[in-house]
Amino acid sequence: MKFIILFDNIPLVMKKSVYKLFFIFLTAAFFSQSCAEGEKEYHKADFALGTVCSVKIYTNKGGREVEKIFGKVFSELNRLEEIFSANSGHSVLQNVNDNAGKKSVEVPAELYSLLERAVYFAQKTDSAFNPAIGAVVKLWNIGMENPSVPTEENLKKALKKIDYKKIELKNGSVFLTEEGMQLDLGGIAKGYAADCIKTILLGEGIERGIIDLGGNVCTIGLKQDGSPWRVGIRNPVIGNDRSSAAYLEVSDKTVVTSGDYERFFEKDGKIYHHILSSKTGYPAENDLRAVTIVADTSADADALSTSFFVLGLEKSLQLIKSFPGVSAAFFMKDNSVTLAGKKLEVFKILDDKLFIRDNLMQ
Ligand code: AMP
Ligand code: MG
Repeated sequence: MKFIILFDNIPLVMKKSVYKLFFIFLTAAFFSQSCAEGEKEYHKADFALGTVCSVKIYTNKGGREVEKIFGKVFSELNRLEEIFSANSGHSVLQNVNDNAGKKSVEVPAELYSLLERAVYFAQKTDSAFNPAIGAVVKLWNIGMENPSVPTEENLKKALKKIDYKKIELKNGSVFLTEEGMQLDLGGIAKGYAADCIKTILLGEGIERGIIDLGGNVCTIGLKQDGSPWRVGIRNPVIGNDRSSAAYLEVSDKTVVTSGDYERFFEKDGKIYHHILSSKTGYPAENDLRAVTIVADTSADADALSTSFFVLGLEKSLQLIKSFPGVSAAFFMKDNSVTLAGKKLEVFKILDDKLFIRDNLMQ
């Protein structure tokens, strides 16, 4: 049995340089493997967008051409990082943040439209998904160097700076109307980037492949034998998260998971993870361990997985009704799994401790 192992379980507190070293064997150009009928498998992975990005394609193009294609893919990822990063001092997003309360900033059309989409999800989820949550994210610094539990006072102050309704989008420009506000697109940008990479690969005539941007998986076409891709879902139990909890089969779809095991730190025996509640400022807490979304576009799947993780099972089951075409698997802390939304042809549990409580897919 062969399925894709997702890459995003490497401790993100690792310094970027160490991280890079760690993946040198993957980045050594790319490697290829022969497949039937002249098609070869080519694979390249590198560090971008704060995570390990892996792209696998199947083609009968020559090595030189593939090298060029990979070159385009990874420069696209770097280009996107320069726009969307909330952690680089010089991204376009950072410039918008630096001008909070001061002035409106003209931004590239793709940042503008991703912000519109992010605000749409904020409206649909009553701020559970919140692209203006940056001030709180920065206080915790989870997944970065020296994360810490903020003081109540600092948290209270930061909570006053996260109202997404104060993001003013007008004529291609963005204005954060309150000083100290900060955008953070960490919950949607990797998905958008995966969509961009898929578009590039399709434009280059690639008919099958897998893009995995730190667990945001996007599939292209079908496998060469005409069967769908089998995508493994990482075990959401912290400590077991190098194994797969389940797998599903898809073609031309994206599979995105949000879970508390992705980025977290431990303090005084308590785990603090990276998906935060706009209401409390603390990591969102409910009965969920992880949510996996299957959808057509990775940006939407990314936003939805973060949204559902914050909302919890019951509210998510209501919300998913307004997204036909989207499937979701909810992994609960009691080891039960609930499936909802559009029916998946294949969803199989691999970990014996997990069990399907409800299958509401149709
Ligand atoms: P994901 O891993 O896609 O679920 O997104 C988590 C990332 O999104 C975090 O690392 C933050 O950068 C950001 N984030 C945290 N909490 C929220 C939230 N409630 N809404 C939107 N983005 C968030
Ligand atoms: Mg997300």
